[in-house]
Amino acid sequence: MTLDLSCHIGGASRPLPFALEQRNPAALDEVVSRIPDAGPAEIAEASAAARAALGPLGSGIEKRADALDQIGARLADARSDLGRLIARETGKTVSDAEGEVMRAARIFRFFGGEALRIVGERFASVRPGVSVEVSYSPLGVIGAVTPWNFPIAIPAWKIAPALAYGNTVVWKPSEHSSAVASHLMDIIAASGLPAGSVNMVLGGRRAGEALTSEADLDGLSFTGSEATGNAVALTCARRRIRVQAEMGGVNGLIVLADASLEAAVEGALNGAFFAAGQRCTATSRIIVERGVARAFAEKLAERVAALRVGDPQDPATQVGPLVSMRQKDAVQAAVATMMGAGRTALQAGRRDAAPDCFVDPVLFDDLAADDLLAREEVFGPVAGLMIVDGYEDALETLNAVRFGLCGGLYTGSLKHAEHFKQHARVGMAMVNLPTAGVDYHAPFGGTKASSLGSREQGRAAREFFTVTRTAYQSAG
Ligand code: NAD
Repeated sequence: MTLDLSCHIGGASRPLPFALEQRNPAALDEVVSRIPDAGPAEIAEASAAARAALGPLGSGIEKRADALDQIGARLADARSDLGRLIARETGKTVSDAEGEVMRAARIFRFFGGEALRIVGERFASVRPGVSVEVSYSPLGVIGAVTPWNFPIAIPAWKIAPALAYGNTVVWKPSEHSSAVASHLMDIIAASGLPAGSVNMVLGGRRAGEALTSEADLDGLSFTGSEATGNAVALTCARRRIRVQAEMGGVNGLIVLADASLEAAVEGALNGAFFAAGQRCTATSRIIVERGVARAFAEKLAERVAALRVGDPQDPATQVGPLVSMRQKDAVQAAVATMMGAGRTALQAGRRDAAPDCFVDPVLFDDLAADDLLAREEVFGPVAGLMIVDGYEDALETLNAVRFGLCGGLYTGSLKHAEHFKQHARVGMAMVNLPTAGVDYHAPFGGTKASSLGSREQGRAAREFFTVTRTAYQSAG
């Protein structure tokens, strides 16, 4: 059944002609959803509705806290329906999708609590008789632009803190995950928040550009690719709109000779290939110490060959399809470039012609620092091994990229683990864990080309979503 979707503005559905469609990546003849491509007029309406809702939303923190808690509870109740919808619309495996829905539920509940903990500070003044108070007030109307690869958790970690701290939202979800977005929007709209607190405009690049360049906003929170994030950040800077942009990664995982080989193989398999490599925190460079390189490569290649690639609705599937033919073409082109450069695939292409948006996982044996896969985000189930001589060499290799989202180290050495946590030039350092997989209440973000602006998630979100105000008072 095809879902015909509408924008949601000022508390009401706002139908527009359909312009885009999303097909089931595991069965391309099935159209999952049809959506409009909103333009400047709808964006202006949505931002006006958000501006008008600022007063009503700001009047009660308990109401906000209750609404966020209720959204969390409803998401948890809907997890199996929503999980199946995410699998159908984006190709994410149903078990990953259900896990993501629960994560979104917990994010809403966490920020329900945070709405009641908007505390300030009182300073002793250097001037006798003067008091100094620091308080945090809402930033205002927030634009949220989100990708398809975490179609519900990423919107949750922008919308929930925005509301908790008293902001209203105009949200533009990805054109590839608008059905999931509409489901979340319905749950938000039924939560008792004032109409216009969250407005959803559907569409692709046109809608995103209109939101960034024309809407009446105070802040814009973006997650997506590096190119789009840079363009969005430049536009916001010109318009003096506060911006945060979470972008890509070319994440490295170091395996030292003193690591547990089983654990390292498991971590590399998970980080590089699960979610079909479509996580910004995925591992693409596996940096292995020479002494264990052969044993590690053999074991990992065996595990990659045994990965269950298939129907994302089947709970036994480990790797589903990519989200679209465009993404499949891009991943296949990257693999062809690597092959053209003479690189060896230890494991690739078990099926002659993978159907629909499926691609087979590929593990390259001899990745070099200037290879495409070692420099740019490929965003598919593709990774390569790089052989190094010792920890220092490994760390230098890990740090020698433009990006710095996350990085990992498998080791038995406390000394190297401690050093790595301080010197890996990344926002998130993982020791004896896969590069992907983070807690929902701790700061999330990267360094270098991976991120711009302040951190998301947990209490760190307050920095972006509030204005810090310092008030001085004398007895007069
Ligand atoms: P994308 O940049 O193509 O799209 C992201 C969003 O921006 C979508 O809603 C899209 O419609 C919108 N958009 C497209 N062009 C726009 C424009 N010119 N102006 C404004 N908005 C525009 O990214 P994607 O393919 O949806 O997502 C995958 C990317 O997201 C990967 O690069 C991945 O690494 C990144 N990502 C990063 C994080 C992180 O936190 N660092 C998390 C998840 C995904």
